[in-house]
Amino acid sequence: MKKETYKSLRKEYPELPSHYLYTACQMATAIFKSFRKRRKKGKAKEKPIFKKEVMMLDDHLFKLDLENKITKLSTPNGRVQLEVYPAKYHEKFKDWKVGQAWLVKTPKGVFLNVVFSKEVEVKEPKSFVDVDLNENNITLSLPNGEFVQIITHEREIRTGYFVKRRRIQQKIRAGKVRRELLEKYGEREKNRLNDLYHKLANKIVEVAEKYGGIALEDLTEIMESIRYSAEMNGRLHRWSFRKLQSIIEYKAKLRGVRVVFVNPAYTSSLCQICGRKLSPNGGRVLKCLNCGFEADRDVVGSWNIRLRALKMWGVSVLPKALQ
Ligand SMILES: [Zn+2]
Repeated sequence: MKKETYKSLRKEYPELPSHYLYTACQMATAIFKSFRKRRKKGKAKEKPIFKKEVMMLDDHLFKLDLENKITKLSTPNGRVQLEVYPAKYHEKFKDWKVGQAWLVKTPKGVFLNVVFSKEVEVKEPKSFVDVDLNENNITLSLPNGEFVQIITHEREIRTGYFVKRRRIQQKIRAGKVRRELLEKYGEREKNRLNDLYHKLANKIVEVAEKYGGIALEDLTEIMESIRYSAEMNGRLHRWSFRKLQSIIEYKAKLRGVRVVFVNPAYTSSLCQICGRKLSPNGGRVLKCLNCGFEADRDVVGSWNIRLRALKMWGVSVLPKALQ
């Protein structure tokens, strides 16, 4: 299908550099694939749609020079040189490899979104730090048995913005302020959370560097099942969870720390010694009626997650039932 589409586009736009047709086909295919996936789950509408005016560029279609802040774009009339006004984080990427890019047209102007890449060496992990992400705190469980708790204050930030948005909505209804103000605050909240996530991720990676590994919960299954709301009660918002996990993963890789995603199913209910089901023994304490092992529910969860991470890494330390 891609090949045929390319051919017909070629006929229709003979003057365009051929890589534009190629990337257009690539984009259309990617959009269709994700549409098909979502339709299977009953989440998609009748047809895939383009929400934004976007053009995908490959390395034949643009050159980026961050040093001199210019980009060169291929056009039917040859290469056109444009000035670039880089975003605030561009300094970091100066010595990185430039990959694909997208030209995106928005009401604020045309943006060039670029993917940068860098080769890193990820070392053999000694052990794994288990990271438990919650809305207001993050608990790191270290292989030496210690726990590090980081208070995030995310809930306060969210509540603060929620209250602000409510007030603005009232003012909009009363005709006192314009609707755009709401978007402005939405943007601000997102930026603030993003900054927070970067700081949290830095801290987590710093702690984990000594051990060389981080175990994160793979919530793909849980997120998609109906148990989602119950499981996620008091935990991070879905968007936040993925976002923070991906920032942790990327920062870890940059420092050579291995990240593994562990299926968390049953990790807080099975005995880490013999693998039998644990029974409640007052408060948050769980006890194994088979071997007598006893521990706090959270400790059990983080231990089992680390055990699974080690197992995925080829170390066989698991009781049978958890394998
Ligand atoms: Zn046991």
